[in-house]
Amino acid sequence: MTQSPQTSTAKTQKLTPFQDKIKKPLRKQQISVLQINLGRRCNLACTHCHVEAGPKRTEELSPEVCEQLIEIINRFPQIQTVDLTGGAPEMNYGFKPIVEAAFAQNKEIIVRSNLTIFFEPGFEDLPQYFAQHKVRVVASLPCYLQSNVDKQRGTGVYEESIKALQQLNALGYGRDPQLIVDLVYNPALPMSEDFNLPPAQEKLEKDYKAYLEEYFGIQFNHLLTITNLPIGRTKQYFQRRGWHQIYLRFLEDNYNGETVSQLMCRNELSIDYLGNVYDCDFNQMENLPAKMPNGEAVTVSKLLEAHNLDLISTIQTAPYCYGCTAGSGSSCGGSLI
Ligand code: SF4
Ligand code: SF4
Repeated sequence: MTQSPQTSTAKTQKLTPFQDKIKKPLRKQQISVLQINLGRRCNLACTHCHVEAGPKRTEELSPEVCEQLIEIINRFPQIQTVDLTGGAPEMNYGFKPIVEAAFAQNKEIIVRSNLTIFFEPGFEDLPQYFAQHKVRVVASLPCYLQSNVDKQRGTGVYEESIKALQQLNALGYGRDPQLIVDLVYNPALPMSEDFNLPPAQEKLEKDYKAYLEEYFGIQFNHLLTITNLPIGRTKQYFQRRGWHQIYLRFLEDNYNGETVSQLMCRNELSIDYLGNVYDCDFNQMENLPAKMPNGEAVTVSKLLEAHNLDLISTIQTAPYCYGCTAGSGSSCGGSLI
């Protein structure tokens, strides 16, 4: 595990602008991933949630934007992956129509599920629905031990997550090569200025697999380790303690240039429930829209009008980008190198 730098010096050192660190503008490559944030509604309200989602949030995809997204899925063979997130994506408008459009076009479909949604009234059919549409399930389980999960996500979340994973296993997930279930680990928010990056992904995956198999008979495919980026509730947590700048400094001190070519923003479009386009979900949460070379913000309508998904040349960056490039790197697909 990476140890914290001396925080006394961290407090006084200025952060290098991310653009200067990478030395040249971060260029977009050909788009192959469409990540759609369907809305902010969620049955949970986790402490680390960068989306600040919860049961009382009402923002969700409109029927018009949903139709436009289906048009993009149908029209552009270059899209290989449709990645659905939220909130709890399953609770927000457009979830099933988009899954079915992507399935009909033979795209890889990812749903970022909190698993506990399987036990909410009206959502009990989800495991079978996922299996029928070969949806790859990416589920947060920030620790394989109950107390740590319940602390981060709420009492009872661990038990429901275990039951949900057992249901998925019973349908063939984690066993049938076409039915993939991955788990996501992110470090607990720190209690002091002794910050940590996630431990090595491969080693932690082995520990998760051994524990979940031994105690619950659970099998899963991959463990994805994700660094806490200081945005949303995580940023507020750091700011309340006066640690925001120190944490950014810690991330910069662990900068690893080898991660830059693998950053997830290179080939993805992140879409919000209003049809605005961002370079990644983090920029979406921080309201930093993707831009065309003429400075105009990109929207789903503009992509369709131009009949071109590759309207962005330079990715918008911010200090929290250091979270993606620290140590082994971090993305929605886990560590980068
Ligand atoms: S389950 Fe995910 S979207 Fe919902 S509150 Fe927790 S972190 Fe946020
Ligand atoms: S936050 Fe990460 S994924 Fe988003 S633009 Fe910055 S480096 Fe890229």
